[in-house]
Amino acid sequence: MGTEVNIIVVGNNRAVIRSAVQAGFREISRIEDIMSAYKPNSELCSLNKAGEQEISRELLYVINKARYASELSNGAFDITCKPLIDLWHNARKTNEVPDTQNILNTLSLVEYRNILTKNNNVKFNKAGMKIDLGALAKGYAVDMAMELIKSYDIKGALVDAGGDIRAIGKREDGKLWEIGIKHPRERNRIIGLVNLENSAVATSGDYERFFMLNGRRYSHIIDPRTGYPADNQIVSVSVLSSNCLTCDSLATAITVLGEKRGIELIEKLKGIEALIITIKGGNLKLIKSSGMMQLVLNRENS
Ligand code: ADP
Ligand code: MG
Repeated sequence: MGTEVNIIVVGNNRAVIRSAVQAGFREISRIEDIMSAYKPNSELCSLNKAGEQEISRELLYVINKARYASELSNGAFDITCKPLIDLWHNARKTNEVPDTQNILNTLSLVEYRNILTKNNNVKFNKAGMKIDLGALAKGYAVDMAMELIKSYDIKGALVDAGGDIRAIGKREDGKLWEIGIKHPRERNRIIGLVNLENSAVATSGDYERFFMLNGRRYSHIIDPRTGYPADNQIVSVSVLSSNCLTCDSLATAITVLGEKRGIELIEKLKGIEALIITIKGGNLKLIKSSGMMQLVLNRENS
């Protein structure tokens, strides 16, 4: 999944702990084999090639979750933006911004409503369409790994796939899991802490993955409404909810929507909270959703 995965399991029996951790890692690779857009033999790649295919129940589940995120965000979240991701990826190699016509042509392939599903058959309504699940597959993998780990006789666990985190039970010292939210501009500094109690958090930050083109910094998240990388002063979005797939997809959606519409969306959703950090003229601004009780800010940042 292009990221480092860490699993922590707390329990009384070493052998049980070891088996739980191994099961978690195996589950994550299993999902990667289905949903990776880069592994040429993944089920997703084969669907992208064929344009129509019977797919597994799991792949269908994630595609349906993606559709829901698209509907919630009015299309800001859209897994069909793969052709645009590829276009910008090539632009990096040539170090030239794609021309407007090329962007517009590619944009015409991007539309989540053009993924047609009937039972377990999926069909792209336009030739050349392609799906990328990079914005939510990690969250799904974390959830699934945790489901397996939970079935062992353990006291607590934490799964972290590059900032997509889910925790259950307690830490070794009996306290709740505490997650630091990184300061988006200063290494080794955290801006605040959240406690997880059988819940999840995912953070999308512009400092983790971005690319330079002609001396300008571009986000790896694409705005499917314009065809250009998202550009709205957001430097980091953390979303909290009961499951990691929801957190992952909404963090990406908010990065596209921007601060105002992003917070509006979160306020409409029950049991989901967010911390958005923007930068304007060099100044960071923190925006919390109204129910964000779990967040303790570093005093200097509050
Ligand atoms: P990260 O945790 O690495 O920041 P994200 O969850 O933010 O990852 O997802 C970013 C990935 O999602 C991109 O690398 C790309 O594959 C895909 N993507 C980019 N833009 C969108 C979008 N508007 N909707 C859905 N997926 C997107
Ligand atoms: Mg995401």
